[in-house]
Amino acid sequence: MTATTEAKARVPAMEGWFSIDENQPHLIGTQCTSCKSYFFPKETFFCRNPRCSGDEFDEVELSRTGKIWSYTTNHYQPPAPYMAPDPFVPYTIAAVALDIEGMVVLGQVASGVDPDELSSGMEVELVVEKLYEDDENEFMVWKWRPIAASSQPNTPPKGDN
Ligand SMILES: [Zn+2]
Repeated sequence: MTATTEAKARVPAMEGWFSIDENQPHLIGTQCTSCKSYFFPKETFFCRNPRCSGDEFDEVELSRTGKIWSYTTNHYQPPAPYMAPDPFVPYTIAAVALDIEGMVVLGQVASGVDPDELSSGMEVELVVEKLYEDDENEFMVWKWRPIAASSQPNTPPKGDN
């Protein structure tokens, strides 16, 4: 009757904003049933499309891929309630235009990615990484990771033979 607690439960840091699937995480948004506009974070009361008066929404999984529209590296600790690692480490935020919906979603760039390798228009995919943890849970957040596996440093071969 002993509970095994060696593995912490992985839970979304922001409940309901995305699904935690090890391989295929998705942002969760809503789509207006009248004009088919997408919203993230979820809109559930009134459609924000000025030409639409819809008030019914379907919950939808948004596409996992997109293209970097812009990005910036933040060297300063963000204000509360943002949960930043302690000690603070600079992080890069990317604004990504989703492939299907076309909407722009902000997110941190995945850890281990060199900001110098980013460029506008680069293809990225959604991943989930740990934001912080307590004694029982690991709190996960979505991040953007470049798809290009062939992002080798473009160093010319040495010709000193
Ligand atoms: Zn609408």
